[in-house]
Amino acid sequence: MKKKVSAKKDWRKYWKLGVSEFNTQYFNVTKDGELTVKEGNYIYNIHQIVKKYGSSMEIVFPFILEDRLSDLIEYFDAYMKIYGYRGKFFYHYPMKVNQNKEFIMPLLSEGAHMEVTSANELYLIKKLWEGEKFHSKIRVLCNGPKTGAYLDLIIELKSKGLNIIPIAEDEGELEDLVKIRGDIGVRVDLDMKADSRWDKKIDRFGISEKKVLALSKIKNLKIMHYHMGSQISTQKSLLEGVKRGFDIYAKMTKIHPNLDTLDIGGGMSIPYEKKKFYTAKIMANKIVKLLKKMSDKAGIRHPNLAVEWGQYVTAPAQMTIYKAIAEKPIYKGNAKSWYVIDGSFMNDLIDTWAIHQKWHVAPVNNANSKDLKRVWLAGSSCDSDDKYTAGGTYMLLPKLKDSGDQYIAVFDTGAYQDALASHHCLLSSPIKLIAQDGTIKVARKRETAEMVGKLFGWGNGDK
Ligand SMILES: *Cc1c(COP(=O)(O)O)cnc(C)c1O
Repeated sequence: MKKKVSAKKDWRKYWKLGVSEFNTQYFNVTKDGELTVKEGNYIYNIHQIVKKYGSSMEIVFPFILEDRLSDLIEYFDAYMKIYGYRGKFFYHYPMKVNQNKEFIMPLLSEGAHMEVTSANELYLIKKLWEGEKFHSKIRVLCNGPKTGAYLDLIIELKSKGLNIIPIAEDEGELEDLVKIRGDIGVRVDLDMKADSRWDKKIDRFGISEKKVLALSKIKNLKIMHYHMGSQISTQKSLLEGVKRGFDIYAKMTKIHPNLDTLDIGGGMSIPYEKKKFYTAKIMANKIVKLLKKMSDKAGIRHPNLAVEWGQYVTAPAQMTIYKAIAEKPIYKGNAKSWYVIDGSFMNDLIDTWAIHQKWHVAPVNNANSKDLKRVWLAGSSCDSDDKYTAGGTYMLLPKLKDSGDQYIAVFDTGAYQDALASHHCLLSSPIKLIAQDGTIKVARKRETAEMVGKLFGWGNGDK
């Protein structure tokens, strides 16, 4: 079915691009209907790029990461100044959100500290540090279960002078950590639930409020940390976490003389669906104001504030591009056709399947077409779950023409998808490009059959 749209349409607006509230201020549509991305005065034409490098394709924009992080740090620093807040602000990048080098390096250059969750992530930090790739003032927080190898690496790096702070996840870990020299932290399992898809009845992370409050003096305890979950959907919920976290922090400062930092974890969301949403600027204002008020009331020093907002910083810095390779009719459903794509939601954007992630989708070419169709997208694997249906509604995309390919952009794919990606049906992962300073670099080549086979033990020597 056709949906008529007027000839004088503002196509940028129509596809919800060019709107800073939606994190799409970098994107535009040319008069020929091609998707573009603007870095300073340089303009990348995504249609030209995908024609040259082929699809499926991921494209990373480091300047977006840099922009988002520098703005975020600025908001917190500015509100701390405005309110006369005497603690410091620390941004710790949670590495698990995206461990790719092209994400880490720009964030380090913009002043990110780090947060890691495993021995293997920490190993990469060790490599960077030993290669003198970052300033020794950078601080590394270590979450996640401390296996023997992980703890050994922490102790090794600590003894070599890296500013590294392990965070105890449970009481057993705490017993090990109090014995080591230097600062440590403790993770509290707040007795409240956030408006988040991580709304589990029983949390297995951290130490309960009651047990944390019963701890006797720990001299090297510097940080109290909590993490409520990802993509917290309301400001209220985020602020309630800060309130509850602060209450415990304030009580703990009476017992632990070196405690001076409240780390509120991750969870700041982004508007994947391009609907009205709360902003980081508003949250920075409210969090600083709230902490100032509560610490003054409790008569304690303003805590240093650490945040680990990963998804918020990274998601908008990458898009994934597919080509429609076939069309199939849908007889019963809100959409009229499947567009089969040359990639896979189950492999490349696994959250589509795992947590019913919603994505913003727009055409890469023909974005000025008045001939639109209600569609769902189907992945190339043989699995019936490999699809994206916008939650059972539909997407509008240009009708397919006999002449010329139709490319489709999925926005905000920079958080979590890469490390979770898989090879169902042995499909190849997308080629990955980096667009920076007006040039395109290949960060990951398109996988050949040979390369994919090797991942499954089919080496060169096989007969
Ligand atoms: C996953 C995680 C984060 C990042 O969460 P986002 O929702 O991406 O901001 C931060 N801190 C901890 C401890 C985490 O486990």
